[in-house]
Amino acid sequence: MQQVYNFAAGPAVLPQPVLKQIQAEFLSYHGSGMSITEISHRSSLFQDLYHDAEQTLRQLMHLPDNYRILFLQGGASLQFYMLPLNIAVNRQVAYVDTGHWSQKAVTEAQKLAGMQVDIVASSKDSSYTTIPEIPTLNKAYDYVHITTNNTIEGTAFNQVPDVKGTLVADMSSNILAQEYPFDKFGVIYAGAQKNIAPAGLTVVIVRDDLLGQVEGLPTMLDYTLQAKKDSAYNTPPVFDIYTAGLVFHWLQDRGGIAGTEKINRAKAGILYDYLAQSKLFHSPIAAAARSLTNIPFVTGDSNLDAEFVAAADAAGFKNLKGHRLVGGMRASLYNALSIEAVTALVDFMAKFEKGVG
Ligand code: PMP
Repeated sequence: MQQVYNFAAGPAVLPQPVLKQIQAEFLSYHGSGMSITEISHRSSLFQDLYHDAEQTLRQLMHLPDNYRILFLQGGASLQFYMLPLNIAVNRQVAYVDTGHWSQKAVTEAQKLAGMQVDIVASSKDSSYTTIPEIPTLNKAYDYVHITTNNTIEGTAFNQVPDVKGTLVADMSSNILAQEYPFDKFGVIYAGAQKNIAPAGLTVVIVRDDLLGQVEGLPTMLDYTLQAKKDSAYNTPPVFDIYTAGLVFHWLQDRGGIAGTEKINRAKAGILYDYLAQSKLFHSPIAAAARSLTNIPFVTGDSNLDAEFVAAADAAGFKNLKGHRLVGGMRASLYNALSIEAVTALVDFMAKFEKGVG
């Protein structure tokens, strides 16, 4: 079989050792004679793996005891609504507009009755190629929402902004890819399908003091109830949580988030360095705002972009087409993508460039 490198933005590449372990124990989980996809969420087999996954993620993120980790469903998109529903008790919230997904978060928050949603900073003026400064906020907001990594645009908060009040974040596309002082956040949420597990799991991390503020919420949308029930009020995504646990251990074995960030910086550096000297391809993103995990690049000629994507695909470099909103190319370099994949991509780009020149 041809060597394939998967640069997809999500669902995305998973670590080979994790996939192999799943394959090896797929028919009989821990000698039970049952597949992981067949065991009960009330069994001790599941309880053990659930608590292990929770503990391992807590250790990876250095989360203190006053944070609850929830393993939910509905994707990050459900959190766009569930977060303000649970936390915005005064109905005054602030959002930083850094592109497509942050705008989706705003749109959902606006659907809550009486909600005042202020956009307190935006990088619209730079066509979302930068990360905006957040001005000093005079109003008392329930929270300030940021998207730490902008999957489509290819920008990231490389530093956590200092804001008054509770900071909350959509970390869907760079959770566990780089260190942040996670205890500076009141809520962190992320769809799993980029850096954690297959689609179907959403990780939500909530600081204790933000729970229990709103009564009478629909059961499945209530953080407090989900926390009380260890995310198992109804049937949780067992296979996803199992895979997430394996990925967390894989991350631990390679030096946790700090060790992984080092590798991610090396990977991103190889591609950004190549782009900086290329006469054909370039990065449209301001240097200080560049993402480690989603790297857009363009030739400036959409026909040539399409030609490159097709040639790359035929050579085994999959899913390099940019999002339809921005065009061009995008290489997603999530944790499980090897440094060899990036080196091979850059070699291929150099060859393509020579052929064009
Ligand atoms: N936020 C960001 C930053 C994303 O990249 C995505 C998905 N690409 C989402 C939210 C939506 O995630 P989901 O599909 O899990 O709802």
